Amino acid sequence: MRIETLAVHAGMEGLTESGSHVPTIDLSTTNPLPDIESGGDSYENLANGGDLIAGQSAVYRRLWQPGVARFEDALAALEVAEGAVAFSSGMAALTACLIATVAAGKPHIVALRPIYGGTDRVLDTGLLGTEITWCEEETVAAAIRPDTGLVILESPANPTLEMVDIRRIADQAGDVPVLVDNTFATPVLQRPLEHGATLVLHSATKYIGGHGDAMGGIVATNRDWMTRLRQVRALTGGLLGPFEAYLLHRGIRTLPVRVRAQQATAMELATRLTTHPMVAKVHYPGLPGQDPRGLLGRQIEGPGSLIALELVGGYDAAAQFIAGCRLVTHAVSLGGIDSLVQHPASLTHRPVAAHARPDGGIVRLSIGLEHVDDLTADLTAALDRLALAVAI
Ligand SMILES: *Cc1c(COP(=O)(O)O)cnc(C)c1O
Repeated sequence: MRIETLAVHAGMEGLTESGSHVPTIDLSTTNPLPDIESGGDSYENLANGGDLIAGQSAVYRRLWQPGVARFEDALAALEVAEGAVAFSSGMAALTACLIATVAAGKPHIVALRPIYGGTDRVLDTGLLGTEITWCEEETVAAAIRPDTGLVILESPANPTLEMVDIRRIADQAGDVPVLVDNTFATPVLQRPLEHGATLVLHSATKYIGGHGDAMGGIVATNRDWMTRLRQVRALTGGLLGPFEAYLLHRGIRTLPVRVRAQQATAMELATRLTTHPMVAKVHYPGLPGQDPRGLLGRQIEGPGSLIALELVGGYDAAAQFIAGCRLVTHAVSLGGIDSLVQHPASLTHRPVAAHARPDGGIVRLSIGLEHVDDLTADLTAALDRLALAVAI
């Protein structure tokens, strides 16, 4: 089935038989046990990362939650993965991956910058017992050691939308699993497992939820990693709640439509903004010359709906511009139905080491579902006000 159909139907199995049209939100934290022996068996199975066996008790929510399992099935279907494991946030999902690799005796991580500010910070500080080697696309092979547990990358990357050739990294990584943060692209545009990745991570808080009202994280991967991540989750408790699971699963149903509509608006807007004199550069993979490795169409279906503007006048210009936006809300996060603008150097990338921080004149836009003409009017007015302020 095609992705539009999977998005609507995946994870909905068995509903008709149960007389429901949409999943019910089960708030149970504990589950009745039929008898001592089967309760113990189920506990053992689930704590070791197994699937709930039909007819057995789910025992306790930290081990298994039916709505979370539905959401996981749906995302796994879209990423064409053997399965997925959901967490309370994108950072909880990353944490579980890092704990699992440290537990396996492979604490060394190779990662490519730029990457999400929180990920950068967790890796750079070694908070979870990992050791980091930052490298470039060409130097991954040289950075691999016997104790390297993961190669981590993000594409397109925060905040300037640079794209990394996943296949090229996977080839260099050899047996070391590659984790791709696919939050910006979503499985609608890019499915990293098809390009040699082993783990695909999402902040589901962004496009997957899509409405700015639910926080979660999820990792799509193979059986072996699923088992390990479930074990970590059962012990450390970074669980997705049933209500969030419901909202994120509902978000998946409209994901292809939202992603494509937002992308079409972003493409038009990026083109229009290139001509404004206060814009030094529009960073957007869909613009001429911004896909030097030819990844559009080969690795990623389209350029997405995030745009970074490099303003003439640096930090002060960025502050002025953001203050001048009316329709577009000044707020972090991305991927929702309403457009947002934020300043990476002072917010999302504040935790990043100074030399690796984005330029102060860059603002990042997440384009929503508003009409392109209304967004053009709002952003152009903010740029015009900026031009006027500079002239005075
Ligand atoms: C937001 C984000 C994260 C972190 O996810 P949370 O849900 O906020 O914990 C990780 N990676 C990317 C690319 C993000 O945008």
